[in-house]
Amino acid sequence: MAMAPGTAEKRRAALVARQLARAYPAATCALVHDSPFQLLIATILSAQCTDQRVNQVTAVLFRDYPTAADLASLPIPKLEQLIQSTGFFRNKAKNIGACCRQLVERHRGEVPADLELLVHLPGVGRKTANVVLGTAFGKATGVVVDTHVARITRRLGMTRATDPEKIERDLMEQLSRRAWIDFSHRVIHHGRQVCQARKPRCDGCCLQALCPRIGV
Ligand code: SF4
Repeated sequence: MAMAPGTAEKRRAALVARQLARAYPAATCALVHDSPFQLLIATILSAQCTDQRVNQVTAVLFRDYPTAADLASLPIPKLEQLIQSTGFFRNKAKNIGACCRQLVERHRGEVPADLELLVHLPGVGRKTANVVLGTAFGKATGVVVDTHVARITRRLGMTRATDPEKIERDLMEQLSRRAWIDFSHRVIHHGRQVCQARKPRCDGCCLQALCPRIGV
């Protein structure tokens, strides 16, 4: 069983969060959206796809079908066609269709601001739910762990886990709750700009003094 983090780990996590806040004060979610519903759909579409591509697709999709009721009425083959370029489009279309129907039938077409209710929607896991709750509702229910967060927090020695839910648990224990939402946005930003998967640019990295560079 993993040991609870000590004061030293928590202090270091706070310093990492502070450095990232200095480097990326305004970092936020890159998925363009006008409502919690649109962020939910964009997040489902972002699996195995760049945010840039998702934004291209949703610019057209949300222009014509901005709400859950609009998308629920869209035939699946048409939806597949509209989201095809995001990859895994059959599965995504099936989940989005079912998710929108459930939102209409059980939640009056609105996205519930509740983790338990969200993870019961088709295609919505804990990560997607955390994204929506954190970014659209400002509710810190967890730490979003995507590929950047997983890679960088391992390099920083904040976790040894590979399973996203275990990584999330480690981060939740080390970071104060008020840091959870922004921490993910900033780490994702850092992953795109500096601590890239293949060639991390450690020289000049704002976290260099705090980073053991595990596995680099
Ligand atoms: S020092 Fe290197 S490995 Fe550590 S966070 Fe910075 S870029 Fe990533």
